[in-house]
Amino acid sequence: MTITRFAPSPTGHLHVGHALAAWVAREEADRHGGVMLLRHEDLDRERCREEYYDRIEEDLRWLGIHWQGRPWRQSDRHDTYIVAMQRLIELDVLYPCFCTRREIAQELSAMGQAPQQDDGMNPAVYPGTCRNLSEKSRRERIQAGDAHAWRLDSSQAAELAGALTFFDHRAGTITVDPHLLGDVIMARKDIGASYHLAVVVDDAAQQVSLVTRGDDLLGSTHVHRLLQNLLGLPEPEYLHHVLVCDENGKRLAKRHDALALRQMRNTGLNAADVLGMIRRLHEKSGSA
Ligand code: GLU
Repeated sequence: MTITRFAPSPTGHLHVGHALAAWVAREEADRHGGVMLLRHEDLDRERCREEYYDRIEEDLRWLGIHWQGRPWRQSDRHDTYIVAMQRLIELDVLYPCFCTRREIAQELSAMGQAPQQDDGMNPAVYPGTCRNLSEKSRRERIQAGDAHAWRLDSSQAAELAGALTFFDHRAGTITVDPHLLGDVIMARKDIGASYHLAVVVDDAAQQVSLVTRGDDLLGSTHVHRLLQNLLGLPEPEYLHHVLVCDENGKRLAKRHDALALRQMRNTGLNAADVLGMIRRLHEKSGSA
C-alpha cells in the first residue's frame, strides 16, 4: 500500500506553498489507493510555537486535505534518533565537529566561497576542518565539554554503502552523489538530531513508501539514501514537485504573509479557489 506524508514544521502559518505540498501528498495517496500521514517536524524547539500545530491542522481541514491517524511529532522521538546515532557511530561514519558557524564562514571565505546562497537554503559544503582532527584531540575536547555536532563523513559513508540510486516519479532513476552536500550534520549541538537523520528514521518508522516534497530537497535525498542504506532501512520512492514561487521567481517563505492560507481565507477566498490555483500550478509545472 502507498503511504505518503506531509511533514511541515510548526514555525509559522501554512502558506500556498505548503498547501501544494500537502495536496500532492494527498493526491498521490488517493491515486494509489493509499493513505497520507501528517508529521510535525518540530525538532528545533526554539523556532516552533505551540499554536502552530493546531493552526496547521485547521488549515488542512479547511482545504479538505485529510490525513490518517494521529499526527506524529518529532520532538517525541528523541530516543529513537539516539539509537540511530549510536548505530552510525558504531559504523565509524561520523565525526564530532566543534566548529562554530562563524568559524565555518571564515574558513569558507578564506577559500573564496560564500557561506550560503542568499535564500539561506543552500549552505556551502562544510570545509572539513574537524574531519582531520586526531582521535586524541577529539577525545580531549569532548572530555573538556566542548560543544560539538556530529557530521557524516561522506567519504567513509560512500565507501561503506557502495553505489546507490533512488527513483523519482518525475526525474526517473537518479544516481546518488554522496558528496553533493558534503559532510552534513547528523546531530546538531543543541538538538542531538538533524533534519536528515530524523526524516530518514521517521519515514521508515511510519512505513512511508512514497516521499513527496518540494524539489528544493532533491539534494537532501542523496544523503537520505545513503543513511537508509547505512541504517538498513527500506528505500521509499520519491516525487519532488516544483515549488510555488513569488513574483520574483523566489521560493515562498513564511514572511509571505499575503499568501498565508489564513490570510487568504480572511480576504474571502474559499478552499476551492486555493485548490484550483494549486492544481493549475501543479499542471503547469508538469509535476503530475
Ligand atoms: N519539514 C520539511 C519542511 O518543512 C519537509 C521535510 C520533508 O518533506 O522531507 O520543509
